[in-house]
Amino acid sequence: MDDLLLRGSTGKTHIELAVFTSTQLVKDAAQAHDLTGTSAIALGRLLTATALVGISGHRPGVTSIQILSQSRIQQIFADVTEHGWLRGYVKNRTLSHPLFLNEDLEGRRTIGPAVIPGQVSVVRMGDKGEYIQSATPLYNGEVDIDVDHFLNQSDQVASVVRCDTFLDRQQGIVAAGGLLIRALPDSRLEDITELREKIDGGLLSQLLRERKSATEIFEKLFPGAKETDPRVVPIWRCRCSKSKVTSTLRMLDVMELADMVAKDQPVEVRCELCNTNHIVSTSELEILMKSKTSAQS
Ligand SMILES: [Zn+2]
Repeated sequence: MDDLLLRGSTGKTHIELAVFTSTQLVKDAAQAHDLTGTSAIALGRLLTATALVGISGHRPGVTSIQILSQSRIQQIFADVTEHGWLRGYVKNRTLSHPLFLNEDLEGRRTIGPAVIPGQVSVVRMGDKGEYIQSATPLYNGEVDIDVDHFLNQSDQVASVVRCDTFLDRQQGIVAAGGLLIRALPDSRLEDITELREKIDGGLLSQLLRERKSATEIFEKLFPGAKETDPRVVPIWRCRCSKSKVTSTLRMLDVMELADMVAKDQPVEVRCELCNTNHIVSTSELEILMKSKTSAQS
């Protein structure tokens, strides 16, 4: 099943829907950060939820969701552009909780005890730099349920967010995905409640674990619903670059650059969001220094 995000609405009851299959994205994120079990599930759930909230919101700019935890996971962050570029990280990368009683190794796993207490905050930044930020306390630390709780409490829009990441016996990621259901102004609340009960009956988990496509999941969960927007393929892609690092170094004064060149040490800047190491060599530093010197003379 390829990654795909579908947006639609139920016909007569006017409820906004989005389904996202995110297996490749979550695999790429886990590989970039070298994540184990619980940490991979936590970031996978947050990346999937962030894409659903950000892209279905029809807002230009970037949406970020951050969980600040006082428990072992410490911090989880993800952001998404309106075009579906996602990045993020989890502070504690090596958490692997054992199974809870009656839990299936390959089913939905409980991660709340590693996350709660804390808060979830959402920042929506427009393309001109203006932003809106709000936060709510974590509800149960399961990440997707915390985002669900945020939308219902802080945005005060009746919503359902369910996301998951499933592992195999070797802790590898086998499937990831999720959905968002959100009331429109003329929705009936009982229709949202009915959909929530249907999802929580386990059908979404089953469809994701069977590696069904986003189209199949959409049709199975929301029979009769129609797609309303162009399809999006969100991908793991950071907005950092070596040229941004070089631009920052260009702000230093000539003497500082000369000092770095004299020490013959390349500059290494690691991007926390995607774990990429950008290296500016001594010869590149020298070119920077010379261009500044000639610009000043
Ligand atoms: Zn980066």
